[in-house]
Amino acid sequence: MDTAEIRRRFLAHFEAAGHAVVPSASLLADDPNLLFVPAGMVPFKPYFLGQETPPWPRATSIQKCVRTPDIEDVGKTTRHGTFFEMCGNFSFGDYFKEGAIELAWNLLTKPVADGGYGLDESRLYPSVLVGDDEAIGLWMKATGLPRERIVQLGPKENYWSMGVPGPGGPCSEILYDRGPEWGPDFDVATLGPDMPFELEDRLLEIWNLVFMQDELSAVRSKEDFDIAGPLPKKNIDTGMGLDRVALLLQGKQNMYEIDVVYPVIAKAEELTGKRYGADPADDVRFRVVADHVRSSMMLIGDGVTPGNDGRGYVLRRLLRRAVRSMRLLGCESRVLPELMPVSRDKMGETYDNLLSDWARISQVAYAEEDAFRKTLQAGTQIFDTAAGDVKEAGGSTLSADRAFALHDTFGFPIDLTLEMAAEQGLQVDEQGFRSLMAEQRERAKADARSKKGAHGDTGAYRGVLDEFGPTEWLAYETLETESR
Ligand code: ATP
Ligand code: MG
Ligand code: MG
Ligand code: MG
Repeated sequence: MDTAEIRRRFLAHFEAAGHAVVPSASLLADDPNLLFVPAGMVPFKPYFLGQETPPWPRATSIQKCVRTPDIEDVGKTTRHGTFFEMCGNFSFGDYFKEGAIELAWNLLTKPVADGGYGLDESRLYPSVLVGDDEAIGLWMKATGLPRERIVQLGPKENYWSMGVPGPGGPCSEILYDRGPEWGPDFDVATLGPDMPFELEDRLLEIWNLVFMQDELSAVRSKEDFDIAGPLPKKNIDTGMGLDRVALLLQGKQNMYEIDVVYPVIAKAEELTGKRYGADPADDVRFRVVADHVRSSMMLIGDGVTPGNDGRGYVLRRLLRRAVRSMRLLGCESRVLPELMPVSRDKMGETYDNLLSDWARISQVAYAEEDAFRKTLQAGTQIFDTAAGDVKEAGGSTLSADRAFALHDTFGFPIDLTLEMAAEQGLQVDEQGFRSLMAEQRERAKADARSKKGAHGDTGAYRGVLDEFGPTEWLAYETLETESR
């Protein structure tokens, strides 16, 4: 089933059940705490928080999402994109647990001929928060599954909050067993409280149902919070990963191989002369290329331009990683003018601004590639000089100082330094380089603390700093919805 059809069926299913169909909001959240929209509920937040009255009691949407904290997983797991689409249904004080469970199960298991996704029931495992007997009972009633098929997971997986006092509630993640080639056998009774790492690609999480029912008075961590009492109005917020359901329904190994993403990999094969599937390290690069080309295009489409901080720096990092991955695959010519139109042709079927605004979008992307190519050129000369010096002195290791200078002054990623050194039969004092980086990071952190006094989930931006050198440090805070 192609992605367009999965999308259509989702909205039709919920529209038939009385939900207002709401178009995706921009990726740029209207929220000072968020760089980008990481989940479908974000545009509805004022309704959930009781700040505004919703115009309808129930709604459905397919929301564009970007999760920068997932960047390190891209291409390594089968299921994390920096860009993806989240299909959701929302109830504002209307139906609750039972309705949400029935609606989700029905769509997943209804035969394809009847408008559903036709997923094999024997592979589906609902999960609930440990001890949520109400949800267990409702799952058994809705599905006819025995209690032994319902997985109980701890609050890390199955309790949602925004990381601050306010609404919270238990979740039900719906998992799909992809079979023994994806991980070890498991016993439902002893799974949890945390999902074992080695099962995450086997028991693929496809949908999360959030039962917003509690008023939280304090949130100290994902597992440590105080419930003050019940919310006056109970809400439903769900998110189904479109790309993940597509990979299942299209019989693909991972989300980078689905119909709207894979053509970029195919184009990259053509440009590099390498085969996807021939080498595991190269395969990660192919997948990074496909993901990052798409996410950067979507971000530019919504108005982001490359820059040295905040949103602009995330975009810059995505574009540079795509270009660099292509170089590591052996293609040194300009790549974005070849790759991005392929992604546009696929995503443009849904987001027609990509077509109408293409002249601007492509110009922004291609100019950034050209600038990065200049950086690489300048750095390459410095690198060659450094490598020559080492050899002349009869050494075999490029010093940490030299690697750091390349990084710091020319924005030269360490991966590239390592790779180019290897080509010349040299090693790099990587350990030393890392400690210089750590020292610099400490300085940047101290600096940010003294500037802002803020804390937040800066992990993703620390990665940016690692790779591309210092930039103005912005300790953006992200909401817990990024990893609920
Ligand atoms: P995971 O545990 O696999 O990282 P999550 O628990 O962080 O997923 P949720 O926050 O519950 O994900 O988001 C709802 C749904 O959105 C998930 O069930 C999944 O189908 C989808 N999803 C989440 N993150 C991504 C991503 N990075 N790429 C693609 N789909 C995603
Ligand atoms: Mg999860
Ligand atoms: Mg989840
Ligand atoms: Mg996650």
